[in-house]
Amino acid sequence: MKQLLKTYFGYDEFRPLQEEVIDSVMQGKDTFVLMPTGGGKSLCYQLPALKFDGLTLVISPLIALMKDQVDALKTNGIAAEYINSSLLPAEIQQIQQKIITKEVKILYVAPERLALGSFQRFLKTVNIKLIAVDEAHCISEWGHDFRPDYCNLRLLKSQFPKVPIIALTATATSKVREDIIKQLSLDDHKSFISSFDRENLAMIITRKKRAFDKLLKLVQKHKNEPTIIYCFSRKDTEKIAMNLQMEGFDALPYHAGLNNESRKKNQELFIKDEVPIIVATIAFGMGIDKPDVRLVVHYTFPKTIEGYYQEIGRAGRDGLPSECVLFYSYGDVRKHEFFIDQMEDVIEQEKCREKLNQIVGYCEAVTCRRKYVLKYFGEEYSFLSVDGKENKKGCEACDICLNPNALFDATEITQKILSCVIRTGSRFGRNYVADVLLGKSSQQIVENMHCDLSVFGIAQDLNKDEINHIIRALITSGFLQVSSDQYHTVSVAKKGAQFLKQKESLELPKMREDSEDQRESSSRRKIEYDFDLFEKLRVLRKQIADKNSVPPFMIFSDVSLQEMSCYFPVDKNNFAKIEGVGAKKLESFSDAFLTVINKHIKENNIQPVEIPNRNQKRIRDIRSSSAFSERYIKTKEMLSQKLPIVEIANKQGFKYGTIVNHIEKLISNGEEVDIDYLKPSKERLEKIKTAFEKCGDEKLKPIFVFLNEELSYDEIRLGKLFWK
Ligand code: ADP
Ligand code: MG
Ligand code: ZN
Repeated sequence: MKQLLKTYFGYDEFRPLQEEVIDSVMQGKDTFVLMPTGGGKSLCYQLPALKFDGLTLVISPLIALMKDQVDALKTNGIAAEYINSSLLPAEIQQIQQKIITKEVKILYVAPERLALGSFQRFLKTVNIKLIAVDEAHCISEWGHDFRPDYCNLRLLKSQFPKVPIIALTATATSKVREDIIKQLSLDDHKSFISSFDRENLAMIITRKKRAFDKLLKLVQKHKNEPTIIYCFSRKDTEKIAMNLQMEGFDALPYHAGLNNESRKKNQELFIKDEVPIIVATIAFGMGIDKPDVRLVVHYTFPKTIEGYYQEIGRAGRDGLPSECVLFYSYGDVRKHEFFIDQMEDVIEQEKCREKLNQIVGYCEAVTCRRKYVLKYFGEEYSFLSVDGKENKKGCEACDICLNPNALFDATEITQKILSCVIRTGSRFGRNYVADVLLGKSSQQIVENMHCDLSVFGIAQDLNKDEINHIIRALITSGFLQVSSDQYHTVSVAKKGAQFLKQKESLELPKMREDSEDQRESSSRRKIEYDFDLFEKLRVLRKQIADKNSVPPFMIFSDVSLQEMSCYFPVDKNNFAKIEGVGAKKLESFSDAFLTVINKHIKENNIQPVEIPNRNQKRIRDIRSSSAFSERYIKTKEMLSQKLPIVEIANKQGFKYGTIVNHIEKLISNGEEVDIDYLKPSKERLEKIKTAFEKCGDEKLKPIFVFLNEELSYDEIRLGKLFWK
């Protein structure tokens, strides 16, 4: 299977659970697979399909996607076809003929096709080895994407009792899961449920203040990278797309109000990398499988965590670091509340309110976002690294973990807020409570005679935002509770009452201003590569894609281009080792890419890096940083040969300082490196020591000054290693 994986898909390793699922399918078992978007579900039936000496039938709900999937398989040299209503009868005839002559391995069909008697009769004559039901949740009325046509699939088991079925989905509550299994009659099946964590997605929440400026910064940061911006209304999508255009960004709107043709065109332009930004209502995304979306922005507030997680799931399917930013404003939440308050069906209303509260809770949580979301989906997230050893500081890719806030002593203000809630009779919303604390003499407050209370105006040292922040923090941490009716009245919860009684002290996180100057998110997972070459390869990819009329990502993924720009393969042999290069793509595209790579390295005098033979056991997380660690290993080798730093630097085409970086990193990772031969003279080391003892070791500048600028920064850093 590994061999087939490389030959046909160009990948060296399986993603989590793929191998196990494939095993189950190969054993002829019915199989159920729940994996997040981008988890790599397709491979679970495509790879077995290559092994079987018959046909694999794939049922997939979206006609638009079918063509893409088949095109992608064909570029990998796999005999795949689809049959749906977009084809002419003659074309269908032709494909059926090819199936009869066993020239097709994988056939995609839409569910409604199965209801046609003629098609059923045709299938009976075919040697079907496996049936894959993709997006299997569409069969369940309990799910959110129910499709009546999927009910045709109930008969599959009785029509093809000997053929194993694999059902795959990214979204299924346990109820939907059971429903799928029941409807498809997967009586004796194996289930595979993978983690819902998408570790390459940075989950960022930011206040919706000066929102458009913030948006500009984000799209600037991700310039030319595929971006989806989700908005609430059609009007918003038009407006924001236009405003972005005026700022010089290529952006197009997408919503249900556009006519079919423009919708199709805009989507196509996005998929083909002609236009990087789509501003859309949530209608967008269903029909696309673009793997290299690098930024997803929720410009307005999502209604549910499920929806939100599905939408951000469209980012980074290829596993590369991608960013998901949600603009949070209480005003937007109020808009949703307003709609919910108008609902007539009380049960439905209750449900929506609950869902909304959950996503508000997510935004106001002061703990790791990832932990929160995964917990919502019933999964416990731990801050242990993949190998279970290192204890990370948080998930390293959410706004909370990236900038842990300072805490402040909130004892007094909490007492004030809780007593204000009690004194005003636990009958009001948080806005009202805040106004009383701020001493606002609004008409309602005056009428209620709340200006006479001792708590009136006792928090005037804070502004409304700050008080609101604290009230919300008290709600999320369970000191206050909010009623679930439309009045959202606040009252003191058990924990709050206890706090008042026991006179404990309390620390809360400070209000985070903006996450604008956030540390670079998930930088740890980026690989080091030559950006100029990457750009050149992107251009080439686009040209080839256009010539073949397929989207660029079908030629090579960003991962492949990054590896090429990191290892600089100069011949076919090395090119074949790049991730995503299978036999067919090697044959079709290597010449064109090698020409550009060779030209680039000649012009820039770059030494190609030997591509490591991949260690079978390497884990994903390490894989993405492998290029980086290769260089460390090189440095380590040369250190053991006792080469001077200057020489090590020259050999690898790096600066002196970079090698010092490598040494620091190697040592901090606990690698054994012998650097004794690099020790500065006794006299120098003495000086450096004195300087560190005098100035502390936090910053290098004071040391540099203290030493009369006689030693370079790099020398100081090196010296520090010996002083330590
Ligand atoms: P899903 O259907 O679960 O959302 P896909 O099957 O569309 O996911 O796969 C998502 C992306 O991951 C695709 O670009 C696919 O080529 C890639 N992929 C799948 N399996 C692997 C693997 N073992 N190694 C590297 N990339 C993979
Ligand atoms: Mg899929
Ligand atoms: Zn986190």
